[in-house]
Amino acid sequence: MTQTPAVEGWFTTGADPALLGSRCDSCQSTFFPPLAAEGSFCRNPACSGETFTTAELSRRGRVWSYTDAQYQPPPPYIPVTDPFEPFALAAVELPEGIVVLGQVAEGFGVADLTVGDEVELVVETLHTDDDGEHTIWRWKPVSAAGASGGSPA
Ligand SMILES: [Zn+2]
Repeated sequence: MTQTPAVEGWFTTGADPALLGSRCDSCQSTFFPPLAAEGSFCRNPACSGETFTTAELSRRGRVWSYTDAQYQPPPPYIPVTDPFEPFALAAVELPEGIVVLGQVAEGFGVADLTVGDEVELVVETLHTDDDGEHTIWRWKPVSAAGASGGSPA
C-alpha cells in the first residue's frame, strides 16, 4: 500500500523521520511549518532575510504542554474513527526553540505525558483511503518506549 504524507513537505518519512522547517539564511532562525520558497520574510523582527533553506528539525523534544481533545475538531480535521475517540495532543519544544503541536503516538494518552518529558517524532497512519495510507507525525514518549522496548536502563 502506498504511504503519502497527509501534508506535503512538512516532514520526511523513513526509518528516522523528521519535521522539515525553514532556516533563515541570514539569522539562522528556524521556523515550522516551513515557509513558502518565494515571497516569505523572516519572522525575526530584527532580521530582513528573505531566503530560507529547508532543514530537518530535531527528532526529539520536550513536552511543553498537552491536552486531551474530547471533542472532534472542526474541518480540515479528518475523523479517523466514528464515533470520535478522544486523543491526546502534545505541544513539544524542540532544541531549535520552536514549539510543534502534534498528536501523541498511537497507544499513548495524556496519562503517559508530563511537562518536561522527552518525546520522539514518529510517523504513523492518519487515515486510509483509495489512494493508500496518509501519514502524519506524532509524538511518542521516550521513557515509555524504553520501558516496553526492553533496553536496560
Ligand atoms: Zn532571519
